[in-house]
Amino acid sequence: MTMTDKLQATYDKLCNHAREVALLTSTQSLLGWDERTKLPPAGGDYRAQQMSYLAGVIHKKQTAPEVGEWLAELADSSLAADPHSEAGADIVNLRRDYDRKTKLPQALVEEIAKLSVLGQQLWVEARKANDFPRFRPLLERMVELKRQEAAAIGYDKEPYDALLDEYEPGAKTADVACALAGLREQLVPLVAEIAASERRPKLSVLKRGFPIDLQEKFGRHATESIGFDFKSGRLDVTDHPFCGGAGPHDVRLTTRYDEDFLPGALFSTLHEAGHGIYEQGLPADRYGLPTGEAVSLGIHESQSRMWENFVGRSWPFWEHFYPQAQATFRDALGTVPLDDFYFAINDVRPSLIRTESDEVTYNLHILIRFELELALVNDQLQVADLPAAWNAKYREYLGIESPTDSDGVLQDVHWSGGAIGYFPTYSLGNLYAAQLFEAAARNLGDLNALFRRGEFLSLRDWLRKHIHTQGRRYPAAELAHRVTGVPLSHDALLRHLRGKFGPLYGLAI
Ligand code: ZN
Repeated sequence: MTMTDKLQATYDKLCNHAREVALLTSTQSLLGWDERTKLPPAGGDYRAQQMSYLAGVIHKKQTAPEVGEWLAELADSSLAADPHSEAGADIVNLRRDYDRKTKLPQALVEEIAKLSVLGQQLWVEARKANDFPRFRPLLERMVELKRQEAAAIGYDKEPYDALLDEYEPGAKTADVACALAGLREQLVPLVAEIAASERRPKLSVLKRGFPIDLQEKFGRHATESIGFDFKSGRLDVTDHPFCGGAGPHDVRLTTRYDEDFLPGALFSTLHEAGHGIYEQGLPADRYGLPTGEAVSLGIHESQSRMWENFVGRSWPFWEHFYPQAQATFRDALGTVPLDDFYFAINDVRPSLIRTESDEVTYNLHILIRFELELALVNDQLQVADLPAAWNAKYREYLGIESPTDSDGVLQDVHWSGGAIGYFPTYSLGNLYAAQLFEAAARNLGDLNALFRRGEFLSLRDWLRKHIHTQGRRYPAAELAHRVTGVPLSHDALLRHLRGKFGPLYGLAI
C-alpha cells in the first residue's frame, strides 16, 4: 500500500464513521420531531429514556479514541492540505468537532446536562410566578459552568469566543460586537423615528376569520412556490414552530395556526421553509459529513429570514400573491386594499416580547441579550443585577420597560438550558440575509420584477449554488465574504430597513 492509499483508507474510515454517527443523530432527530408533534402524553417518560440512551451512544461514538488517531494521521497530510477541498474541509471540521467534544471533562458535560433539564423546569415555574429570585441561583451556577466550559475548550481573546463558537464556528466576539454596535447606533434612532410617526397601519385587517384549512392550503402553496420540495419534506402542526429532519430527503417543517390572525402561521411557515430549503439544498451524497452540513446557525437563520422578511414581507411578493389571498380569504380580505394589507404585515413598534417583534426592533431585542450575556461571562455583571440591567437596556434602546420579569428577563428559555452564545446568531442571520440579498440582486438583476411574476426559484437556485451546496467548505464569515464581496457589517441591513420602512412611515431618509 502506498502512502497515498493508506491516507485515503484512513479518510474513508473517518467518513464511514461520521456517516454512522449521522444514522444515529438523524434517528434522534426523528424521535425529537415525533415528541414535539405526535407523541401521546403518557409516552413521554419512555421517550425520555430512548432519547437519553441514544444521546449516550452517540457521544461515545463521537469521542471514540480511534477517531482521534485517524484525525492525527490525516492532520498534516496531503488530503488536508487544502482546507477548502472536499476532503480538507471534512478533516478540518471533524477535527474541530472532535476537539470540542473531547476537551470537555465528562463531569462538566454531565453537570451542564443535568442543570439544563432542571433549569428549564425551574424557568417555567419562575416565569409563571414572575419570580426571578427563584431562578437566580441556578442561573449563577450555569454561568459559572459555562465559564469552565470556555476555559476547557480554550480561546485566544475572550471566553465568550469559545461559547459563540459552538453555534457560529469560527466567529469572533470582537467582530460580532463591532457589527452589532454599528447596527445599534443607527437602529435606536430609526426605531424612535418610526415610533414617533403619525402613520399607523390598520391591524384589524389581519385579525379576522381565516379558516385554518384555507390557511394551510395557502401556506403550502406559498411554501412550494418559493421552492420547498414536499416530495422531500412535510409540514405539520406544533406549539412552537421549528424545522427538523430525519435524513437527506426528509425535512420536517412545523407551524402553528390561529384562526383569527393570518400572519402568525403564514410567516412562521415561510421562515421554517427557508431553513428547510437550505437543508434540502445541502449535497445529499455528503450527508453526515461536514461538506454536507449547514455551516452555522447564523447562515441558517439568514436563509429563513430572507424568505420570511426580505421576500415574504415584500411588496412584489404580495403583488403576486395578494389576488390569490383575496380569493382564498374572501370574507376577510375581499375588500381590503393591498396597501392596507402590506402596511399591516409590516407594522413596526417597540414591544416587550422578542418572538413577537417586527423586522426592525427584533435586532435590538437580540443586542440587549448579547450585551448582557457577554457581561455575565466576563464577570462585569452579576446575575443578581440582571433584571435591573435588562430593564435599563429596554428603556435605552426601545423606550419601554416590562412591568414584570416574566415578560422581561425571564421571557426566553435559552439561558436556562445553558445556551449562552446563541442569541447573536439571530442577528447575524439578519445581517447575512441583507448582504446576500444585495449580492443576489447584483447577480440576478431586478428581483422585484421576478417576484412580481411569481418567480422565486431563481433566488433559491442562486442560494443553492452559492450557499447550500457549499456545506462547511468555508467558515460562515468567509463564505459570506466570498459570495458578497464584503466583510460582515450592518450597512446592507440598514439600507434594507431604511429603504423599506422610510417610505411606509413617511420618514425623511
Ligand atoms: Zn429560524
